[in-house]
Amino acid sequence: TTRIVLANRPKGRPQPTDFRTETAELPELQDGQVLLETLYLSLDPYMRGRMSAAKSYADPVEIGAVMVGGTVARVAQSRNADWNEGDIVACGNGWQTHAISSGAGLRRVDPDVAPPSTALHVLGMTGFTAWAGLGNIGKPAKGETVAVAAASGPVGSMVGQIAKLRGARAVGIAGGAEKCAYLVNELGFDAAVDHRAEDFPQRLAEACPDGIDVYFENVGGPVWDAVLPLLNLYARVPVCGIVAHYNDHGETTGPDRLPGTMGAILSRSLTLRGFIMSEFMEAQMGDFLTEASAWVAEGKLHWREDMVDGLDAAPEAFIGMLEGKNFGKLIVKVADL
Ligand code: NDP
Repeated sequence: TTRIVLANRPKGRPQPTDFRTETAELPELQDGQVLLETLYLSLDPYMRGRMSAAKSYADPVEIGAVMVGGTVARVAQSRNADWNEGDIVACGNGWQTHAISSGAGLRRVDPDVAPPSTALHVLGMTGFTAWAGLGNIGKPAKGETVAVAAASGPVGSMVGQIAKLRGARAVGIAGGAEKCAYLVNELGFDAAVDHRAEDFPQRLAEACPDGIDVYFENVGGPVWDAVLPLLNLYARVPVCGIVAHYNDHGETTGPDRLPGTMGAILSRSLTLRGFIMSEFMEAQMGDFLTEASAWVAEGKLHWREDMVDGLDAAPEAFIGMLEGKNFGKLIVKVADL
């Protein structure tokens, strides 16, 4: 197998030298095991957290260990009665071309329902994150305004589309005119605002004339400053991610947002509730896949993939994603389907 391991723990923005490519021989397959050939590797913001030693909800990747990651793979060899050669599965091979599995945790992917790569987003982890965060915490009512940032990405694009399917109004925040046009013209958002525009706070206010009832928090930073004054009484804020801060290290240099945030929570009776999607997975993943697969079959969900070619391209693509260089779900094509 060819694999990319963590070479150094980055301080601030990761560098290509924080990763190292290695090749290794895999042991011979034992009874009950399958050999998996990675087809697609998902690159996600949470991986930045795993590169740090700091304690979080999941253990860090050790120095010298394979970078973690969700994958879609083909069963290349099987000594497990449940799996046949050629089966397509969703799994967690990480940043490597091949892996051996006992079969535990493999999810079957039906290529007739949707292209297999969608098991990494619209019918997978990021789609579920949006669905579960909105369903359990945001709970948008018909006619309410739902705002979301990183809106052209896999989580944000699902948040807006599900909000619309539930009868709410969707306002997207994204970096640049092209992403904003995509939100309105192709995903059916009611409005989109560029967070890099000079007068962004004012434009956001104009796009939300009735305020914001649900803000699905993906980024933090200055976007939060613009959202906070617009939150309505009893607004709900599923706190899903703060990607604007993932490369922060040590003392932050920005303004102290705490008094303003706490004051607004108090005076407008806001609910901020953080979540890691795995909290809801066991109980709700099945319901999500049923509902989302039906939406896909009916043509009600749209997505965009930003596909880069070859495992070697992963480090640079990952580093760029943390700065918004991706447009759509960032995926590494590791081998041909
Ligand atoms: P995306 O593909 O949307 O990539 C991240 C995007 O964040 C960038 O493309 C960029 O978009 C935006 N961004 C980066 N820096 C800033 C900034 N300073 N200000 C505003 N926007 C910025 O990622 P995902 O859809 O995969 O993830 C979205 C969020 O959801 C992340 O915070 C991630 O950590 C979180 N997440 C949480 C999970 C959970 O269980 N809680 C599970 C999965 C994801 P743009 O160009 O539009 O600015």
